[in-house]
Amino acid sequence: MGDDNGKDGGVAGWVTDPGDLLRVGPGFDLAGVDRAATPGWDGDSDTADAFRDGRGDLLSEMQERLYANGRTGGTRSVLLVVQGLDTAGKGGIIRHVAGMMDPQGLAIRSFGVPTPEERRHHYLWRIRRALPTPGKIGVFDRSHYEDVLVVRVEKLAEVDWARRFREINAFEKKVAESGTVIVKVALMVSREEQGLRLMERLDRPDKHWKFNPGDVDTRARWDDYQAAYQDMLVHTSTGWAPWYVIPADRKWYARLAVTELLTQALASLELEWPKVRWQVETQRRRLAATMRPETLAKAAEEAGEKVPEVHEEIAEHAEDVRAVNELADVDPTPAEDRPDAVAADEETSPGAKKKKKGKKSKKK
Ligand code: ATP
Repeated sequence: MGDDNGKDGGVAGWVTDPGDLLRVGPGFDLAGVDRAATPGWDGDSDTADAFRDGRGDLLSEMQERLYANGRTGGTRSVLLVVQGLDTAGKGGIIRHVAGMMDPQGLAIRSFGVPTPEERRHHYLWRIRRALPTPGKIGVFDRSHYEDVLVVRVEKLAEVDWARRFREINAFEKKVAESGTVIVKVALMVSREEQGLRLMERLDRPDKHWKFNPGDVDTRARWDDYQAAYQDMLVHTSTGWAPWYVIPADRKWYARLAVTELLTQALASLELEWPKVRWQVETQRRRLAATMRPETLAKAAEEAGEKVPEVHEEIAEHAEDVRAVNELADVDPTPAEDRPDAVAADEETSPGAKKKKKGKKSKKK
């Protein structure tokens, strides 16, 4: 990534792993989350934007490696689940974060009110069909969690919620075991900020299309939604699919934090370029036999310039990944073997990996 992330330029950066600060663990209390805070970030919005831009190169290379591995028999994929109340900034997050990567490697899916066909199936049916295939980064704009949020608050169905949480945890465990790294982010705005954002949509003709009169009804049930979120977060944050609560009053922070969490998810895979089964030298000889000597000389000249650069880039990439993993302090224990991965009652397991607290990473 070179100088682009600002680490060599001396600009501010993460002083504490945002994953540690934002992950939902035991005793989590949504009411206590300051929605305007910027946990872990030492800097302002300009430095955040510069840092996030720098992450773009790293993210897109990791994505290409993931994609390449998926095309050659790899089983890994990543799923980013984005939840949040109206105006929390789901669209902006998806546009900014996904916009840093090659659309061919992404599978973005929105979940609205279920269609008649979807209603005929189990609520996880449409989710299963939308899961990222190997090599892809899936992004869910809303998700199966609507089935414990809007469905609960609006009393759209009679459900045993504890059972549904268990079902979701078991479902996500299977998804994780099949090779998908799951990152779930809940964007949380304050009630005041939501009011301001909704009013802006009414004030500006270019934003009217974003306003839905139903948003005011949903807002009127603010406390019920907060309670539903609280219950959902503590019961479905697991070792294999943790929730991260993102303070979202400052859009730049939410984008920065989600970028970092996605970067960490990809870096944790430590992806190499795929190894091929055939012999490079054999294929080189076969191809050379079909080329004119002048063309071969041109290829050799170009390779002489490019190949050392590529080796340098690969080494730099390894260094960048190592730095991300160092900040995230990756726990090498498989998720399912971590002590907190399965809660005592098999129902909840808030809090993912246990980490050394108070570790200050080097400033980037
Ligand atoms: P957004 O508010 O996310 O920008 P939107 O207003 O464009 O989206 P859609 O994406 O079409 O609307 O649908 C979102 C709506 O669908 C939300 O109100 C959400 O609560 C609702 N929804 C999603 N899943 C379900 C579900 N399982 N049951 C009932 N309603 C659902």
